Amino acid sequence: MPRNYETVELIKNTEQDNTSTEESTRKLIRGGWQQVDVLKSADSQFAQRLKVSEDVQIIKFLDDEPFAAWHQHWIEREGQKSFICIRDLEERGCPVCETGNRPSQRIAFNVALLAVGANPVVRSFEVGPRVVDQLRNLNKAPQTGPLTKHYWAVSRTGKGATTAYNLQAIRARDLAEEWKLEEITDSVMDKLREDKYDASIMKVPTYAELLAIASEDLGK
Ligand SMILES: [Zn+2]
Repeated sequence: MPRNYETVELIKNTEQDNTSTEESTRKLIRGGWQQVDVLKSADSQFAQRLKVSEDVQIIKFLDDEPFAAWHQHWIEREGQKSFICIRDLEERGCPVCETGNRPSQRIAFNVALLAVGANPVVRSFEVGPRVVDQLRNLNKAPQTGPLTKHYWAVSRTGKGATTAYNLQAIRARDLAEEWKLEEITDSVMDKLREDKYDASIMKVPTYAELLAIASEDLGK
């Protein structure tokens, strides 16, 4: 794929369950692009997620690698619908997997979200296996990488299975003129780094909790 500093990177984000993609992503993550934290703790807090919308938002990656990767079940039900899969953490396996519900890979990056007239804030940028493959390439490509080098304009087109993410690298010097935004100063960056998420923010359900959910799902 030709890479140009200033061209829009069109990233397909179909987020469909795809075994080969999922396997390659697992290999990628375990193969050493980064040391992704294994999810072990069950913190009660959630990370504040970056809501990618059709309106362009400007972000800056705070790390060149994800802070967490996990498998996630999606269950159509009242209330909470997404649950972290515990098959890699629990000797008894995962009750939701046993119902035939296949979890999908989720990967999260620490980013700063910029806004005109406001201080940048830390968000968790959660993506699926296809987008993470693209981010990995963007991280490695000398024109766009590492991810922390530039700012990024991020937006979404389409919905559901046809969703695509658009990611465009923006040079720091173009921020003011093109986006009316100021570069993040070193002191603000230090504060943002203190607010970064780590894998302990993820709420990992217990076996009993997932067993209850799985029974509920089977009852439908
Ligand atoms: Zn599972």
